[in-house]
This record gives sequence, C-alpha cells and structure tokens, in this order.
Amino acid sequence: MSILVVGSVAFDRITTPFGTAERCLGGSATYFSVAASFFSEVNLVAVVGDDFTEQDAAIFKGRKINLEGLQRVRGAKTFFWAGEYGFDLNVAKTRDTQLNVFADFKPNLSEGQRKSDVVFLANIDPDLQMDVLKQCKKPKIVALDTMNYWIASKKDSLTRIFSAVDLIVINEAEVRQYTDEPNLVKGARQILALGAKTLVIKRGEYGVLMITRDAVFAVPAYPLENVFDPTGAGDTFAGGFLGYLASCPGHDDREMRRAIIFGSVLASFTVEKFSLDRLREITIAEVQQRYRAFRTLTHFEDFE
Ligand code: AMP
Repeated sequence: MSILVVGSVAFDRITTPFGTAERCLGGSATYFSVAASFFSEVNLVAVVGDDFTEQDAAIFKGRKINLEGLQRVRGAKTFFWAGEYGFDLNVAKTRDTQLNVFADFKPNLSEGQRKSDVVFLANIDPDLQMDVLKQCKKPKIVALDTMNYWIASKKDSLTRIFSAVDLIVINEAEVRQYTDEPNLVKGARQILALGAKTLVIKRGEYGVLMITRDAVFAVPAYPLENVFDPTGAGDTFAGGFLGYLASCPGHDDREMRRAIIFGSVLASFTVEKFSLDRLREITIAEVQQRYRAFRTLTHFEDFE
C-alpha cells in the first residue's frame, strides 16, 4: 500500500546540551518519509524554497519516496524552526519559527496522490489537514499528528479533524492540554470518544502507549547511552509505524504491536545524532537487528 504524507520540510537550528547544529535538515515530513520508506512507497507532499539545494534533496534519493509533490517556490525561503533542549531532552523549547514558503502552502493533490491507501497528516494547521483529507479518495488508514500550538490556537478545528481520522499520534503533554485531564488513560478515552479507533501517545524517553477502545499496549523507549538530539523522534516513530502497517496485508492487534516496535526502533536511531544524520546511514538489517533486541528487552515469562 502507498502512503501520502503532508507536512513540513525544513531547515532547523538545534541546540542541545551537547552542541548546536546551525542549519540542518528537518521537518516533520522529512523524518516521516525517510522512516516510512524502509517499508513502503511514500508520496511526499510539501513545499521548499529555492534555498533547498540538490544536496539537501539527496536525503530522499535512492529511497521509495516519490517527490512529485515536493513543490519549489522561486525567490522564497524554506520553513525554518529553531529548537532548544535542556538536560531533560523530552521538552523542546521553540526559539524561532519562520513560516516562509509554508505560510501560503495549500496543496492540491494529484490523482495518484488522492488514491493513496494510507494518509499521514503531519503537524500542520488542522484546517489544512482537513482540506487535504477531503481531497483523498477512500484511504484505508488516516492518521495525524499535532502540537501544543494548534491545541491552544485552533482547538475547534482540531476537534473536527480528530473526529475524521482513524489514528491519532500525540505527545502525553498534548493529551493533557487538549482534555484538561491529568490522567492519561482517561484523557485518551475522551479523545477516542470523538471517533478515532486508536490513540498512540508518545512519551519521549518513557516510550509509547497505544490505546484502543478495548486494549492498552505499552512499550519503553530503547535504552540508549547516547541520546544526542531528540528532534524528529516523533515523526520518525510515525513513519516507522505507518510504513510498516502499510506493508502488512491486515491490521490486526499483532501487526499493530509490531508496527509500534518498528516505529520505536527507527526513532531510537534518529536521536543518536543531529538531524537525519543517523537515519540516513542505517540499513534495514540494522533496523531488524534492533527490533530483535527490543523483543529481548521486553520479554518476560509468566510466573509458575
Ligand atoms: P518532532 O521532534 O518529531 O516533534 O518534530 C520536529 C520537526 O518538526 C522539526 O524538524 C521542525 O522542522 C518541525 N516543526 C517544528 N515546528 C513546526 C510547525 N509549527 N509546523 C511544521 N513543522 C514544524
């Protein structure tokens, strides 16, 4: 099955306790596409300025990523985000956001893109997410991500799109912010009551919780000694998760759980270096090897 992703391709300035990367490749759709393309064909829909060079675009080459939907706007600059992390790498502080080409981004999907089986609406304006979704023709799975900014500024639009998708990928702080409910499980139930079948709650270094109407699945993050830059971990997770799901004939509980692990494995690589530097160098064999290590990590026997 093919995947459509609509989101940002960006230049980021990242500051962590371990150093600063002044102008590195970023963007939700960038991390998502590279991760998802390990398993499935991805149609990337995004916009860049003419400061985005062939060298920058090289990250997408040689992978199953269709760039037909990557628009280039002449005389304009690519979206820019500056983020900073303290020693608690779970919390990103936004230092600067320059929308640039993203300000007038109104994607008009091609016939092929409209027929994608899996749609991922990455973190963009919820009205734009709805506009993209309306252009799609009967996708089998629609998933979305969002951020605190939209919860604060466009809650009604967000509620409308929450009600129109199958799967929501969201941070734990965002669940609390949206529902005003301190308990995550109760908050998740409130969001699921709007219509989605599955809520995947990202908890940074504490891992992921997948909550459906009748089950909860919890996994830790892969315990790494060197966590360098958490930027993009959430989008990489979503890419691995949906990329794997799109490669499966069915989506039963077993496949959903495997997808959660593949998402977690890919995200664990992303955080090992700045930007997409680690993601760009790994192979599917390394991904599979870490999947098996994850299995060992979380396996335990029943008691006698
Ligand atoms: P994550 O760490 O997974 O939440 O995603 C980080 C990526 O999101 C960075 O590479 C940024 O370029 C991108 N990003 C940050 N703020 C926004 C925004 N307001 N809209 C779209 N993308 C954003």
